[in-house]
Amino acid sequence: MVIHEYAGIVTELEDHDCPHCGRAMEPWLAPPETGWGVILICNNNNCPFYLGSEENIEHKRDDSHLGCRYALDPGNGYKPVNVLAVCPH
Ligand SMILES: [Zn+2]
Repeated sequence: MVIHEYAGIVTELEDHDCPHCGRAMEPWLAPPETGWGVILICNNNNCPFYLGSEENIEHKRDDSHLGCRYALDPGNGYKPVNVLAVCPH
């Protein structure tokens, strides 16, 4: 089990490993506009999902270097969601 605490609110999440790189996923408080709350995210910058996502994003500007991190939404039965992030390369 993973515990996430923010502003006095404790969220308990299941343990999940990223299916793409095998790394333990970490709790992350998503921005309010997403409506997700605390989700589990793969923070591995070498994750194949993350590295391979850069060219798969539609309508992105060529110089934006945006990628998608693999994440799970506990509020929706741990369904996979894509989180847009800036690629480090
Ligand atoms: Zn991963």
